[in-house]
Amino acid sequence: MSVLKVYEYGEAVLRTPAEPVHKVSAKIQKLVSDMFETMVAQDGVGLAAPQVGVSKQVLVLDCSPDNPKDGPMVMINPKIVQKSGAYLSREGCLSFPNVYIDVKRYETITVRFMDLKGRNQQLTISAERLLCRAIQHEIDHLNGILFIDHAMDRFGTDQLLAQAGLPAIEPGKLLSEPEIEALLKQASAALPENHPIPENVLT
Ligand code: ZN
Repeated sequence: MSVLKVYEYGEAVLRTPAEPVHKVSAKIQKLVSDMFETMVAQDGVGLAAPQVGVSKQVLVLDCSPDNPKDGPMVMINPKIVQKSGAYLSREGCLSFPNVYIDVKRYETITVRFMDLKGRNQQLTISAERLLCRAIQHEIDHLNGILFIDHAMDRFGTDQLLAQAGLPAIEPGKLLSEPEIEALLKQASAALPENHPIPENVLT
């Protein structure tokens, strides 16, 4: 296992939609181990493959500090199939060191994905668990969407980016909520139908 470089805001890979995974190969398994090691080394609760420069639909999570039930988890080709409600979430991102902003997230989501053993999984989760917003944040990464796109306070976000020594928001690249919705819908439709009927339902 090795700790990988975490790509920071400004790198093109963070704005590039990731490719679906067709097979959980040894290469994908190695990527997942390295992503876990990198996430732990950086004290993160979630990490998406594009953040380590790999444009693949793979994310890892470990929200056990928030809830012991939400330990290490891998999601391959994840998609949100149901969502409702909205709430404000204060979030950070390993690709934006020292930047914390309020973003709008869904209150309850149902996500379908493939696990590391190639099994189909479905999980419904709501806002009282950190995992709920972590999943939304990481799935965004797989689609070239960043948390600054959801920021409630655009001016404040610009100031935070400047303070952190990160590039300023490029107005042409910032996505609006309808654009985000359209992108996620398009991405979901493009994912292989490897999870039409979930085999396991986790709650
Ligand atoms: Zn992030």
